[in-house]
Amino acid sequence: MDMLKDFEKDLNKCSKCGLCESACPLFKINPNDCVASKGKFIMLHGVTKGDLKLSKNINKYLDMCLKCGKCNAYCPSGIDVCRILNTAKYEYMKTTLLGRFIKFLESRLVFGTFMNFGKFISAPFRPKKKKVENPVARVMYFKGCLNQICPRTDKYIEKIFKDLPLEIIEPDFECCGLPFLSEGNLERFIEVAQSNVEKINGDYDYFVTDCASCESTIFDYPRYLNNIHLPLEKSVNWGYLIALKKIRFQFKKPIKVTFHKPCHLQVDSYIERIFENCENVEYVKMEDYDACCGFAGSFGIKNRKYSKELSKQKAININKTQADYVVTTCPACILGLKQGLALTGEKTKVVSLLEFLAKADNISL
Ligand code: SF4
Ligand code: SF4
Repeated sequence: MDMLKDFEKDLNKCSKCGLCESACPLFKINPNDCVASKGKFIMLHGVTKGDLKLSKNINKYLDMCLKCGKCNAYCPSGIDVCRILNTAKYEYMKTTLLGRFIKFLESRLVFGTFMNFGKFISAPFRPKKKKVENPVARVMYFKGCLNQICPRTDKYIEKIFKDLPLEIIEPDFECCGLPFLSEGNLERFIEVAQSNVEKINGDYDYFVTDCASCESTIFDYPRYLNNIHLPLEKSVNWGYLIALKKIRFQFKKPIKVTFHKPCHLQVDSYIERIFENCENVEYVKMEDYDACCGFAGSFGIKNRKYSKELSKQKAININKTQADYVVTTCPACILGLKQGLALTGEKTKVVSLLEFLAKADNISL
């Protein structure tokens, strides 16, 4: 397991240019030096040199981060910000009682049993698996945790792909590991990553995810695990596949829709193509459509004030579009968007892309 000391060279590479501050959405609403990666690195460098203790106060700033990676993209020194922050969190949590308790909650025994129970309870509400004759494609489906428990997604997929029979393979994947990674539980993260990688191998045409955060976490596995093969060339998400297959959606009543891009969604060029294939749907691009929804996993619980402020700004931008629906591709973002709309009293409905498309009155090729 890497330790913070192993990143001393990277911490040294920080030129204090401050470009990360201009990219950081949190720094915009809380211009405290320790919020952006520059300030965090100064503190962590102090820790690696032995001048500072990895204290509760430093941990407060480790938690004050959306893990959106926007600073990563701007950093001219190419420093892997999220990896350093996750390692610092790991080192801090190892020393605390709370850290040990969180590890217990996230263990296979507790978290794994909870997920299995959720899958068991939701199983009768899912469409029955039928043998697919002459499938147009074999799809390996990595279902995010929320969609594992909520049976509706399966129904949306069945409806959207009714004319394109897919053979869907669903091994018993574990959580992608993002919640463990962000809470500094690197051992559990590695455990689920290894287990998932073993199940990813097989004969299929597409590896499909339904959550932007799961997708980006899986693509990050090679940064933490050596010598693994991921089917990157076959990896898509449901939206990409819908655009690729040119599925058409007809809505009887005119609808105005806008899109929120989750921070972890790498590619979103297919979104506009999908809406172009929707009859009676007007797509309005919102201002800062890729700005964070403010939820960001445990950030939304630990930093209520800033979480609400970011969500509120998002809701104001949604409202400017006058859209009936705001569509996104991450279950956690749905919570952030709902939080903002509840704070501003707006009535725009928040739905996943699959739920929105499944509302169409007619779906054809
Ligand atoms: S952008 Fe990179 S090099 Fe510049 S201050 Fe931020 S972390 Fe340091
Ligand atoms: S990951 Fe996002 S929130 Fe965290 S320091 Fe970088 S830009 Fe700011």
